[in-house]
Amino acid sequence: FDGHALAPETRAFLERPHRLLIDGAWVEGSAGTRATVDPATGLKLADVQLGGAAEIDQAVAAARRAFEGSWRRMTAADRTALLFRLARIMQDNARLLAELDVIDNGMPMFIAELTVANNVEMIDYYAGAILRIEGSTLAPPRHIAAGGEALTYTLREPVGVAGQIVPWNVPLSTAILKLAPALAAGCTVVMKPSEETPLSALALGQMILDAGFPDGVVNIVNGLGADAGAALAAHPGVDKISFTGSTATGRRIVQAAIGNLKKVSLELGGKSPVVVMPDADLEIAVPGVAMATFFLQGQNCMAGTRIFVHESIHDRFVEALGAFAGGMTLGHGLAPGTMLGPMISDAHTAKVMGHIDRAVAAGATLAAGGRKLDRPGNFIEPTIFTDTTADMAVVQEEIFGPVMAVRRFATEDLDEIAALANDTPYGLSGSVWTRDLSTAHRLVSRIRAGHVSINCHGAVGTNVPFGGFGQSGWGREFGQDGLDAYLETKAVTARL
Ligand code: NAD
Repeated sequence: FDGHALAPETRAFLERPHRLLIDGAWVEGSAGTRATVDPATGLKLADVQLGGAAEIDQAVAAARRAFEGSWRRMTAADRTALLFRLARIMQDNARLLAELDVIDNGMPMFIAELTVANNVEMIDYYAGAILRIEGSTLAPPRHIAAGGEALTYTLREPVGVAGQIVPWNVPLSTAILKLAPALAAGCTVVMKPSEETPLSALALGQMILDAGFPDGVVNIVNGLGADAGAALAAHPGVDKISFTGSTATGRRIVQAAIGNLKKVSLELGGKSPVVVMPDADLEIAVPGVAMATFFLQGQNCMAGTRIFVHESIHDRFVEALGAFAGGMTLGHGLAPGTMLGPMISDAHTAKVMGHIDRAVAAGATLAAGGRKLDRPGNFIEPTIFTDTTADMAVVQEEIFGPVMAVRRFATEDLDEIAALANDTPYGLSGSVWTRDLSTAHRLVSRIRAGHVSINCHGAVGTNVPFGGFGQSGWGREFGQDGLDAYLETKAVTARL
């Protein structure tokens, strides 16, 4: 791997057959195989079997049996213990999980290590939440209470069989942040990983078997989006679909879910604003804003890609950003010191380079980067455009690559600044950089986004709700909101 060795457990994992996990067993897929490649080298990692509608049917039936049977009969304390056991197994296999996301997705090792630690924390958090799932007691309705004594209370019950469709950009994390709350709530799961990055989900499947989850509680069906994904979203036996991916696919999921009116959660795209006020502390703002865009080489739903900089500091700020971007090390995720990895695929690279070309053609100034590196793998330099205007595609469209669009502003009126920041159909994330916390909080209250940071960007945490306003999605993941997304409320009234 570009001169870097994999751990023996990762090599052993790559050599095993990569099948589908259905009803507690690894089974063959009927939809052929797909080669998954290391995007930093273009070399094949493994042939992974694909399932289609037939396997989705089998997996949904297995999940239904488990939901009505073994999983429902298990005590909350036993479910808690199982999730804690899974977290320990993941901790013991942290190297394997991190290396799989590095070689399958291209992310640098420092991010993969961070995400594995976060994923373990996430499972522990939801394991601990199981015994705190609570209903409430309420005053009974008047027409019942008037006739004598009565009791009204609520129960929180699992939604049922959950379909979970996962993207490729942070493969293990997006799987865990769906799986952990669903299992904590008492749901059973059919998960479809992204066909681009199935490996860490398949390793997770083995850990779920090793932890001793009952058959059918978790089923993992790798497959193509238009085939297995579409079948899962439309399946009448699925009670809820949780999807993370592009806004365009999100629309298809909603249409597919209409048949049985299944519950839908959507975590979609973004074009998040970053506002740099004249009094920003540039020592932290320069690296912070650069990483807001370039973290995960921009393949990050939270990426802050529209940078609004006050004119009094614009030129200094852009120069410092350019110097920071120029100093970022691009390379294989296994290489020590790598800060930025490759784009996920040739097709995605072509899309990102097309955006760069269009921005130049539209009259934006290329202040840094802009080239694809002349080496194997799809490495694109961290790229900064200035002199951008609201109508340019580089300002309007989610690029999902290392491309930043800087715009200068002159006003200090917070409503006007917020209007610039909110000029997009998305609303996932955003950040404000200033030493004046009063200004910061007043501006945050005007920004239409689900997750806004002050003097940092994209500060997601296990217990902190995350999700989108506008076309960035429906619902929230993480924290209590993430658990609530897999729970129904049942109200009970008894005449006593
Ligand atoms: P994508 O929409 O192409 O694919 C996501 C998943 O959906 C994959 O598993 C894919 O196989 C599946 N899929 C594709 N077509 C489908 C269909 N017709 N029916 C059912 N499933 C289908 O997205 P991607 O390229 O994998 O991920 C990048 C996108 O994800 C970006 O837009 C990014 O902003 C978004 N994203 C959002 C968040 C968030 O939390 N809001 C997090 C990560 C990524």
